[in-house]
Amino acid sequence: MMKSVFSFGGGHSDGDASQKKLLGGKGANLAEMAKIGVPVPPGFTITTNVCNDYYSNGKCLSNDLKKEVEKALLDVEQNTGKKFGDGDMPLLVSVRSGSSISMPGMMDTILNLGINDHVVVALAQATNNERFSYDCYRRFIQMYSDVVMGVSARNFEDIIDVQKKKKLIEEDTDFKVEDLKELIVLFKDLVKKEVNEDFPQEPKEQLWRAICAVFNSWMSDRACFYRKINGIPDDLGTAVNVQSMVFGNMGDTSGTGVAFTRDPSTGEKTYYGEYLINAQGEDVVAGIRTPKPIRNHGDSLERAMPKVYEELCKVFNLLETHYKDVQDIEFTIENEKLWLLQTRSAKRTAAAAVKIAYDMVQEGVLTNKEALLRVDASSVNQLLHPQLDKSIKKKLIGKGLPASPGAAYGKVAFTPEDAVEMKLRGESVILVRHETSPEDVEGMYNASGIVTATGGMTSHAAVVARGMGKPCVSGVSGLDIDEEAKKFTIDGFIVKEGDVITIDGSAGELIAGRHPTHDASFSKEFETILKWADEIRDIGVRANAETVKDAAKSVEFGADGIGLCRTEHMFFAQDRILYVRQMILARTLEQRNLALEKLLPIQQGDFEEIFMIMKGKPVTVRLLDPPLHEFLPQEDQEIERLVELTGLTKGEISQRIRSLTENNPMLGHRGCRLGITYPEIYRMQAEAIFNAAYNVYKKTEEEIGIEIMIPLVGDLKEVSYLKKHIEEVRLIKEKQFSYKFHYSLGTMIEVPRAALKAKEIAREVDFFSFGTNDLTQTALGISRDDAGLFLDDYLKKSIYEVDPFVELDQEGVGELVEIGYMRGKEGNSNLKVGICGEHGGNPKSVEFFYNTGLDYVSCSPFRIPITRIAAAQATIRKEMMKKVDKRKN
Ligand code: PEP
Ligand code: MG
Repeated sequence: MMKSVFSFGGGHSDGDASQKKLLGGKGANLAEMAKIGVPVPPGFTITTNVCNDYYSNGKCLSNDLKKEVEKALLDVEQNTGKKFGDGDMPLLVSVRSGSSISMPGMMDTILNLGINDHVVVALAQATNNERFSYDCYRRFIQMYSDVVMGVSARNFEDIIDVQKKKKLIEEDTDFKVEDLKELIVLFKDLVKKEVNEDFPQEPKEQLWRAICAVFNSWMSDRACFYRKINGIPDDLGTAVNVQSMVFGNMGDTSGTGVAFTRDPSTGEKTYYGEYLINAQGEDVVAGIRTPKPIRNHGDSLERAMPKVYEELCKVFNLLETHYKDVQDIEFTIENEKLWLLQTRSAKRTAAAAVKIAYDMVQEGVLTNKEALLRVDASSVNQLLHPQLDKSIKKKLIGKGLPASPGAAYGKVAFTPEDAVEMKLRGESVILVRHETSPEDVEGMYNASGIVTATGGMTSHAAVVARGMGKPCVSGVSGLDIDEEAKKFTIDGFIVKEGDVITIDGSAGELIAGRHPTHDASFSKEFETILKWADEIRDIGVRANAETVKDAAKSVEFGADGIGLCRTEHMFFAQDRILYVRQMILARTLEQRNLALEKLLPIQQGDFEEIFMIMKGKPVTVRLLDPPLHEFLPQEDQEIERLVELTGLTKGEISQRIRSLTENNPMLGHRGCRLGITYPEIYRMQAEAIFNAAYNVYKKTEEEIGIEIMIPLVGDLKEVSYLKKHIEEVRLIKEKQFSYKFHYSLGTMIEVPRAALKAKEIAREVDFFSFGTNDLTQTALGISRDDAGLFLDDYLKKSIYEVDPFVELDQEGVGELVEIGYMRGKEGNSNLKVGICGEHGGNPKSVEFFYNTGLDYVSCSPFRIPITRIAAAQATIRKEMMKKVDKRKN
């Protein structure tokens, strides 16, 4: 029979810290603490396997389990010299949950179990403290009735409040013995009235029902929800820890507290914690009374009980050295004797994580690699954007998706044009749109933050904002925009153009007025950790960048090059959109060439600037991709300017616009299909690239590693056709300049057919770059533009665990990436392979790409530091796996 109950305490433990899966975090660490000599009240842990059995046995505890528990309880009695439910010195126990992944506050706890009408008297005599004993009993009835019998805790609090008023007292601690006895009677009456059952007096019955209640709390709505949003599997189960009670409510020489071995928000190496005198268990976290700091304060523990504090500091040191990590500790003091009830790795902010990791390397506790694994790569995002000042109360007016992190404030503008104008006046702007489109890019660029009423995490607004490193809140529910009246309403709150709001893109919040923020800057510790990451990582990290500002940011953030320069994004600025429109509306090749001639120097200038900034680092320029109609004018004024420029009539222009409108633009006339229809556009772009590279070479004498990339191919013949044109331009340019270009040609792999035919396509090219935004769209058959309409239902109903546009669907789209990679390498063993979809900045996906064998990932500039860390972590983990495999063999 499998062992179901593990004892600890009295200098012995059945389990240890390595058994988190079986004993839960709390159980495993209690066992470990008892083993290394930390004072832990004796107890036992019922394993997580029993939780799963409990559910498969129709929520019943087996007789075998009960026998094991009874035996463990005997051991606790022996260890403590107390007796459960009886005797001169009664044993009371706590019954607490604890799964292998910490789910703070999500499951249930019961304290003081084993007390009843007789035991309360015995306990009073044994401790010579009647008040304490009755306080335990009233607390137990309150907690047990709530957790096990379903009588809401609020009912008990109401009774307490009435009694406090009646007795003219302020704090629970002011209740006298007689008051407590009165409360106990009132509590029992309430239970009888609510559930038509006497409060259970039999300690064993109390115990069995409490164990069941903790198992039941594993499936409570809030626990299920917490697991869902944190990606924790349901079948982990919770352990149950039954532990002898130690009492912090025995008077002024007792207390309880929580503490961290370092400051969890700054990482500072100072003990940090709070405690309450004469209090029990959850009192500190429940916020019923205001706790006091453990140190540096008039009422600190350091002052009140210096010996206990000294002992606590010794335990802090012992635990931190033992676990090699910052610990979050719960302790209780019973008559000046210190007891530890829990230790676990402390949750911390990104800033703290970075500082702690760095400091622990300096202290010789961790190696660089161990330290890097301690930093949650995703959380590093917090360090890159301005931050809201959390110390000041905010006036929340709406909530949406945290689409792009950081905080920004500004005057509200409802159109991109107004945003540009307001910015020109030197104002900070928040652009509020129903949704954004490529036409809004200039307005977005000029805004400090973006808000949309619709759209998800991969909506246009979200992707572009992340790329620009601007805070964005998308899909704000209940946001009613009246663009004409230039105002929005949310929950009855009206905001007009020019009114100031603040947005927090990390939390997805809209806040009224200007809420103070502070700028992010890289600490010395963060810089060092990034340097370690670069030394360790075995995969390149490039940026998706197409503006001078983005390119400079990429270099500043440590990118190895540009992995995706989306040339269409260069076409939207005011000084060129007109010529782009002229190019699109042209009816003949001659007319189109006239427009292309105007665009050529502009594109060339952009490339020159970017090549200069990148100083010889590779730059992958992708030829024009999106549907042409996105560039077309909507407003009358814009159409009139085109009439002047092209000589076409208004009617002719409108007719042409109609003819270019597609039913499904994402699968329409875009990508290389544009190049096939209008090779002269791609030829102009190739010429601009070669010219720019040559000019920069002349200025700097540095060779530019030109990488030209063709988007959305699915057929070898598309590649061959366009390659012929690009090669022709190259030959012309080489002849013109008497210069040999260092140039490679590649394709994006973003439709399933390209992944399947990768072997043939690879023979024609030098590199692949997986466009996993489109590959996800085409593999799943889900339009990127429309996903927001239903994706939320998929997530709520657990059909998808995560948004596949944020984290790569490794099983499906990932298999296409693996196939594309393998077949590509078969066709061309020198093939270089990267990825440039949004997933390139998602740590879990980065690990997948690394393990697949890709040479680099490319992501938005503001995700570069995250990705550098994620790439190093993937490298370290693979190394560790290899070592384990070697040992196994
Ligand atoms: C992609 O599809 O993954 C990609 C990078 O291209 P875009 O997002 O510009 O379509
Ligand atoms: Mg694409």
